[in-house]
Amino acid sequence: MRIIHVAAEVAPVAKIGGLGDVVYGLSRETRRKGHPTSVLIPKYDILELDEIEDLACINDHFTSTFGGKEWNNSIWKGTVGDLKVYFLESHHPARFFNRGCIYGCDDDIDRFLYFAKAALTFIKEKNSFDVIHTHDWQTAILGPLADIERKANTFIPPILLTIHNMDYQGRCAPWSISQIGLNVNDYYSPDCMQDSLYPEALNLLKGGIIYSDFITTVSPTYCNETKETELGEGLEKILNKNQEKYRGILNGIDFDYWNPKTDKYLPFHFSIENQSNSNPNLTSLDNKRKVKSTLRERLKLEDDHRPVVGVISRLVPQKGVEVIKHSIKSVVENGGQFVLLGSSPIPRLHDEFHRLKKDYENHPHISLNLQHQEQLAHQIFTGSDIFIVPSNFEPCGLTQMIALRYGTIPIVRSTGGLKDSVYDADNDNPDPEKGIGYTFLEPTNEAFDQALLRAITCWRQEPDKWKKMIIEGMKQDFSWRKSAEEYLELYHKIFYSSK
Ligand code: ADP
Repeated sequence: MRIIHVAAEVAPVAKIGGLGDVVYGLSRETRRKGHPTSVLIPKYDILELDEIEDLACINDHFTSTFGGKEWNNSIWKGTVGDLKVYFLESHHPARFFNRGCIYGCDDDIDRFLYFAKAALTFIKEKNSFDVIHTHDWQTAILGPLADIERKANTFIPPILLTIHNMDYQGRCAPWSISQIGLNVNDYYSPDCMQDSLYPEALNLLKGGIIYSDFITTVSPTYCNETKETELGEGLEKILNKNQEKYRGILNGIDFDYWNPKTDKYLPFHFSIENQSNSNPNLTSLDNKRKVKSTLRERLKLEDDHRPVVGVISRLVPQKGVEVIKHSIKSVVENGGQFVLLGSSPIPRLHDEFHRLKKDYENHPHISLNLQHQEQLAHQIFTGSDIFIVPSNFEPCGLTQMIALRYGTIPIVRSTGGLKDSVYDADNDNPDPEKGIGYTFLEPTNEAFDQALLRAITCWRQEPDKWKKMIIEGMKQDFSWRKSAEEYLELYHKIFYSSK
């Protein structure tokens, strides 16, 4: 099966959040399983070029249409990890991908419509893929575009669309899609792409749901929540209508990249396997403790007998920012140290967290780091004892899985993928599909505090039990192995039914 992902992100060269991790991890796993897999993303001016090998322009005269005119592009190719990645450089005068960012421009809709249209042209011309995997609203429009091509008897490989978060749907003025050659009248109706919450708008994600051959989201619980509750964000009806082709598959994490045994960002490595002959440093959890000390030194926190409680998150309402703010005090009052790494695209929250940072400047037990920093993230995953994910809703969430892989016990709110990946050490029966941690149900400070107290009490009073939990968590297989099999099964299904 020859697979191409068309996406706005791929880690580590262009990553804002989980989407980039998923495209990278899943692609590498299907490739490892013997299926040629490549990725196409825009050639942003902010690509992490150090992470790309052999980057070269392979086509300087690749044309695509937008707004009724033909535009020239360059196609670049490079290797990321062991993955083949194509980059589309647009020479449109709007300089769509030279904005110093991935998202957040006023014309994001146009930027990604341009990209999606060019991507389909690229796939058609290359004619060497069996399946197209699109992601989120930015590339969902490939579904309607492919439908038109097929009606004109052009072969377009079947499309699988993955929705990573229903919060972002690509709502836009209906005329926007005329720029990529779609007739607005054919799509702007309640049964088609008209938005059900904002009827004056057209909804790009909805178009992807209707016209793609299969749709997935990133955990089974979130799949149900989006059909049955307001977490569908207005798409409940269309998801139910298409439920035969809608499934939840839990994301994995890339076990090579997120590996405490080899992690290039860690000063000390560790593992639960006994490897004393080859490298004595790997044999014990002492090195995890050494990273805790390094982290404290780096963040100027006191070296005290206290658990470090970490959080790494985009600071947006979805992630439970109110509970995160509350937890700063709560952790310290319960005898812990609080470390946050996060940034906010929302000015109000950005300012609020910067004020908090000022308030807690030089605090011996609080460190707020308000930037995006890969290396620090790895050190926090390792140097923390406890990791908190108090999301209001969470399609999948990766940080709880990464934390477990690094021997850090998560406290999560039981929702979406968090519910599918963590069971409660005190209440639930061990679930072989999930990792061990602490869970709470209500999205409130009180519910969080109870879970925090249980975790900190265990850390202080039952160190042996805590160590067992660390080891159990590190053993959990959150790699892409299983989930990639499920995706391959779907790729085969849509490939053979398109024949
Ligand atoms: P989402 O995609 O909703 O932001 P996920 O939990 O799926 O959340 O993925 C978040 C990813 O982004 C994780 O790999 C996490 O480590 C990373 N991340 C989030 N914020 C930061 C930050 N400020 N610095 C470094 N990495 C971050």
